[in-house]
Amino acid sequence: MNVVVVGAGIAGLACARELTAAGVRVRVLERGRVVGGRLASERHHGRWADIGAAYFVADDPDFAALAERWRSRGLARPWTDTFAVHPGSPAAGPMRWAAPGGLRSLAGDLAAGLDVRLGHEVRAVPDDADAVVLAMPGPQALLLRPSAAVAEAARRQRWQPVLAAVLAYPERVWGDFHGAFVNDHPVLATVCDDGDRRGDRAPVLVAHSTPGLARDHLDVPDAAAAVIARATGELLGIAAEPRVHMHRWTHAQPAATDAPYATDGRVWLCGDAFGRPRVQTAWASGRAVAAALLQSSER
Ligand SMILES: Cc1cc2nc3c(=O)[nH]c(=O)nc-3n(C[C@H](O)[C@H](O)[C@H](O)COP(=O)(O)OP(=O)(O)OC[C@H]3O[C@@H](n4cnc5c(N)ncnc54)[C@H](O)[C@@H]3O)c2cc1C
Repeated sequence: MNVVVVGAGIAGLACARELTAAGVRVRVLERGRVVGGRLASERHHGRWADIGAAYFVADDPDFAALAERWRSRGLARPWTDTFAVHPGSPAAGPMRWAAPGGLRSLAGDLAAGLDVRLGHEVRAVPDDADAVVLAMPGPQALLLRPSAAVAEAARRQRWQPVLAAVLAYPERVWGDFHGAFVNDHPVLATVCDDGDRRGDRAPVLVAHSTPGLARDHLDVPDAAAAVIARATGELLGIAAEPRVHMHRWTHAQPAATDAPYATDGRVWLCGDAFGRPRVQTAWASGRAVAAALLQSSER
């Protein structure tokens, strides 16, 4: 069997790893210059900041085993189970994991040893493979004009945009709070302490906008920098002006669905829209496609 995986986010990489381990010939085609997709870290002022997923939760036993392997190699670490809530009091939740080298480093680890071709934008479903895995948000998959069955599953997905703002301050002037969920706010949805998360104590926060603010600034995200910086300062009582770097996620968060993937038999669609939208779901969806492909090749 010869498989092409389009998309080197965690779903595509998880799928490709399983298939490669089973001896299948797999090429991963990624339009970006780096792997990871929304498991994204950007370098600003000499350090990585996480600009996509804020953390991951590992409550699936297989994913938890992977997290432990990352932990034993120093690639990931349990960060916190307690987030601040605005307005409200801090809330305990599941353990949230972070990566000292930025979350994208975990995608880099999964990509090691795979045939990944970066800077390779796919414009139509490839016809030179026995199976094609579209490991990406449905709206991106639709651009490749898949068959009706896959297109319909892609069209059913509902996505929200988010703007991420990396806010670099002259010094740490806030009390420890790890991260904060911000409720009923016109601008902010979450704010995370990136220095605490990464473990280097750098005076850097990463704020995620509400979908509404993102929708209003999708064309020019930089125009939202000042409003996000002001809202974050007001929330945390910070008077200093940060340097701000903006990142736009047009397809950031899908509504949850309950199938593990969609397929027409040759073309497969997977990613975090297949389950609760989070890193673990994307990983599990990619693995589920690999398992189904391996099973079908045994028949
Ligand atoms: C702002 C934000 C905050 C988040 N916070 C959290 C969180 O705290 N915890 C959590 O668990 N999850 C969080 N998530 C969600 C998490 O990031 C995703 O669930 C997960 O990373 C999705 O992985 P994926 O592989 O399904 O998709 P993606 O990471 O989107 O990967 C798709 C890949 O396909 C590539 N691609 C698309 N089209 C083409 C093409 N035509 N040709 C070639 N390549 C193509 C893209 O470049 C991309 O690399 C967050 C996401 C965002 C954006």
